[in-house]
Amino acid sequence: MSADGPGPDVMRAPPQRRCVVCQQTAGKRGLNRVVRSTEGRVLLDRTGKAAGRGAYVCGKPACLGAAGLTQRLTHSLRLRMGDIELRALATELNTLMPDPSGPAMAGSGR
Ligand SMILES: [Zn+2]
Repeated sequence: MSADGPGPDVMRAPPQRRCVVCQQTAGKRGLNRVVRSTEGRVLLDRTGKAAGRGAYVCGKPACLGAAGLTQRLTHSLRLRMGDIELRALATELNTLMPDPSGPAMAGSGR
């Protein structure tokens, strides 16, 4: 109970699973893992076993649907993503919503 405040990321604390939106810690099953692949892409890690730096978001719709969620994730992963990839990730995260409040992609283009 001594290490706090911003500092170099060299602490040997065990990986803590904390939602990047609400900062709430939760059990493994309560959080969804997003991992940065070796290719530098950000993927939703459904197995929780993918290698690489990971960030977590809990399963609450408020968090999954939070504005800027993808930006928070990529910030945690220290990564820059293009708008297209951010959208792809957001779409994947949307599939995690426990209660889809709308059909996916109801627009057929204008
Ligand atoms: Zn959360």
